[in-house]
Amino acid sequence: MGKNTFVVIGLGRFGKSMAVTLHEMGYEVLAIDKNPALVQEMAQIVTHAVEADTTEENVLKALGIWNFDIVIVAIGNDIQASIMTTLLLKEVGCKKVVVKAINELHWKVLDKIGADRVVFPERDMGVRVVHSLISPNILDYIELSNDYSIIEIIANDFFSGKTLQELDIRKRFGCNVMAIKKGSSFNIAPSATDVIHQGDVLVVIGHNTDLLKLQAKAE
Ligand code: ADP
Repeated sequence: MGKNTFVVIGLGRFGKSMAVTLHEMGYEVLAIDKNPALVQEMAQIVTHAVEADTTEENVLKALGIWNFDIVIVAIGNDIQASIMTTLLLKEVGCKKVVVKAINELHWKVLDKIGADRVVFPERDMGVRVVHSLISPNILDYIELSNDYSIIEIIANDFFSGKTLQELDIRKRFGCNVMAIKKGSSFNIAPSATDVIHQGDVLVVIGHNTDLLKLQAKAE
């Protein structure tokens, strides 16, 4: 199986950063925007850059856009253009359409009209930053669904000097320790007898209410 090919529509801050990252990772990227200045800028960087209005069906057809594996719609502020583009992409047969939403309603509409994945970067990043600000011992927070998340906890006195068995996190908190980071080394299959030391980072998966209880111990 060959490498996936990508289209990024909308070269604002989010789209540009996605297109550049994909290109740096060695993927073929077609970048599209209706703003010629942004297209010109990207033409120096990615595989192909095209000036086009993606709310026009014939434009998408002329590009044979369904031949690409993943199409990312990074049109943010113009919600109507984002919705129209997404609808047309699915209609012309794109297999995987990933769309950026800028608010809850936008998210709901995209989901309803068949976007394969909707991302909400401002909200997700906001939630992550708040979690790390509220608890200095929480390094990162990744929401998996409305109910489940993964958090990275820096081990304090509560954890240090104890084995996973002694801590009994699964039984006491209903969460699962997926990995333990010690400096630059990563133990991705921790066993019951592994001892946690001050400053180790525990990567824990669980229900949000259970994670909150565990988080309280890390403060
Ligand atoms: P960000 O918040 O990531 O900077 P913006 O909403 O500012 O996102 O940028 C979205 C980009 O999408 C803009 O560069 C705009 O020109 C482009 N865009 C908007 N509508 C269309 C469209 N119909 N076809 C192609 N590009 C579009």
